[in-house]
Amino acid sequence: MFDGLQSRLGDVFDKLRRRASLSEDDVNAALREVRVALLEADVALPVVKDFIEGVRPKAVGQEVLRSVTPGQQVVKIVHDHLVEMLGGTPGADEQAAREGRYPGAAESDLDLNAPAPVPILMVGLQGSGKTTTTGKIAKRLSEKQRKKVLMASLDTRRPAAQQQLKVLGEQVGVATLPIVPGEPPVAIAKRALSTGKLEGYDVVLLDTAGRLAIDEELMAEVVAVRDAAQPHETLLVADAMTGQDAVNVAAAFNERVGLTGIALTRVDGDARGGAALSMKAVTGKPIKLLGTGEKLDALEAFHPERVAGRILG
Ligand code: GDP
Repeated sequence: MFDGLQSRLGDVFDKLRRRASLSEDDVNAALREVRVALLEADVALPVVKDFIEGVRPKAVGQEVLRSVTPGQQVVKIVHDHLVEMLGGTPGADEQAAREGRYPGAAESDLDLNAPAPVPILMVGLQGSGKTTTTGKIAKRLSEKQRKKVLMASLDTRRPAAQQQLKVLGEQVGVATLPIVPGEPPVAIAKRALSTGKLEGYDVVLLDTAGRLAIDEELMAEVVAVRDAAQPHETLLVADAMTGQDAVNVAAAFNERVGLTGIALTRVDGDARGGAALSMKAVTGKPIKLLGTGEKLDALEAFHPERVAGRILG
């Protein structure tokens, strides 16, 4: 992912960096190329417009054009704007490194800062990778962070869904809530949380049902589960390959359910990366995790500064 953007923007910025002097026209020409590159990478048009209008006044400022290295300064301005747009804080990684902290981790990771068991609600369309991502998160929390994790499938529509999560749990060595046939989603969520409390679990992952498209019934069910479970994190799982559709899905879930973050899957495919930028811009919610393959350890934290650095070359 992001490769298309990287090759396009990398070229623009290579040229810009090497220029010893710049005029306002030079900067505008470069920004036109940035605009085309973002559109080609599938970034939504309003987001592209906001981006360009956000950087233009800073980039064509006289203090930049008159400086000794105007090209490099424009590149930095665009870079910092991109970091912000991806949900990061420009310079935060540098600051973290100076203070001996792990760069980017605090911002991009799951927030478990709540009384145990911490409820995490997984939402999204069917086929987005929701159940797989639930298993990946459970694996990571239990192996790397030594958390005692319980998973529960609230998908009572697809007969195999609850079984699928159970098998996944066995693969990653994480407990799943025993299946009670016919139990409705809200009741499963409540039972998962009371079991979590009773048996001393740190985290309870609730994998909700998906649909092929957003419908009122799906939303009503997810909202009812949210109200019952009061999740500390509500993560949307979205398929990066679906581009603008994923952005619309994110906007709809955020409006109706309220998200705390997004897990973007299939970034190992040839998605052009624009969805990540658009989703953050449209929902204001951070991309927290990236799914990078079918294997259960193919999960990465999202680092805005690293991604921006990669995009600009
Ligand atoms: P759900 O219906 O949203 O629960 O989707 P599943 O978790 O069942 O995933 C659907 C398919 O996508 C499965 O074949 C997964 O192995 C695959 N999948 C999930 N995440 C990723 C990912 O990050 N990369 C790739 N390549 N495949 C993924």
